[in-house]
Amino acid sequence: MKLMPTADAAAIGYAVQLLRQGRLVAFPTETVYGLGADAANPDAVRRIFAAKGRPADHPLIVHIKDAEALTDWAAVVPDAAWKLAAHFWPGPLALILSKKPCVSMTVTGGQATVALRVPNHPLALGLLQAFDGGIAAPSANRFCRISPTQASHVVEELGDAVDLILDGGACQVGVESTIVDLSGGHPRLLRPGHITPFDIEAVLQTGLLMPVSAQSATLRAPGMMALHYAPTTVAMRCPTVDLPAGIQQLTTDGKRVGVLAYRHPLVASKRVHIIHVPEQADSYAQALYASLRELDGLQLDMILVEQPPETAAWQAINDRLRKATIAF
Ligand code: AMP
Ligand code: MG
Repeated sequence: MKLMPTADAAAIGYAVQLLRQGRLVAFPTETVYGLGADAANPDAVRRIFAAKGRPADHPLIVHIKDAEALTDWAAVVPDAAWKLAAHFWPGPLALILSKKPCVSMTVTGGQATVALRVPNHPLALGLLQAFDGGIAAPSANRFCRISPTQASHVVEELGDAVDLILDGGACQVGVESTIVDLSGGHPRLLRPGHITPFDIEAVLQTGLLMPVSAQSATLRAPGMMALHYAPTTVAMRCPTVDLPAGIQQLTTDGKRVGVLAYRHPLVASKRVHIIHVPEQADSYAQALYASLRELDGLQLDMILVEQPPETAAWQAINDRLRKATIAF
């Protein structure tokens, strides 16, 4: 595995060369780091599944350079897709559309639909333009682990399973893209993200159906599985008012505790390691995965996560926390 700073002028050229050879290149996007391969090369795409340990029936998002490229991948591009693309791309929104027959089932996990997105990151866009094709890229972590938001996280997760990592610093958004399914009758949210249902409804001028629950989902959607983004340390969401008593009980039992707090003015002690994350939802999201990863690396007995509010601005964060933690 090779790590290259993105300031290195040779980095994109080398990345493109590797992609053309069917190799894996991890690169930053505004959401999280992606593990990229040539989306039109099924052998290359299979390498992604192998490197992540991800089941072959969990579809990947294909990253494209601009909205015009939609027609290379989608059999039908409904008006709603053009509208959302014009409004939010490049940006943290993936659209599910019915796939063209030429699109390999390897990248769609066996589905007749394909997920498409134009990422809003200068390096990702530079790479897509230079490559001039679709790049399949799920988050660059092992299956069910915390998504990487810094190049060093990708090194920890994948090591030599990835041929090149482009280091573009920390990701700005910090949680995975919003996913909207436009392949059926009515637009449906599949995964909440930085772009909210309210933002999308304002552009479409129509209501958005909400995700179906994991049990009834017919679509394979790894982001919908219980404990999908989880640390290895047991992690529990805890209401603000219950935090002091929760910590006290655990430390009295001799346990070492990590706390992810955004509001409670807790003070660290010998057995209590605290990370204070920002109180504003966007900044919290940016810090979330790096903070969970840091706590997870401390060999603690338990991680307590102060439960954020259940408002629209926190929807994506609460969704990821429900998949990373158990309830109090
Ligand atoms: P990841 O790339 O790890 O963030 O995960 C990709 C996500 O995209 C999965 O959670 C799926 O929910 C979604 N996805 C990708 N392709 C499709 C598809 N064809 N149909 C439904 N969901 C999809
Ligand atoms: Mg992922």
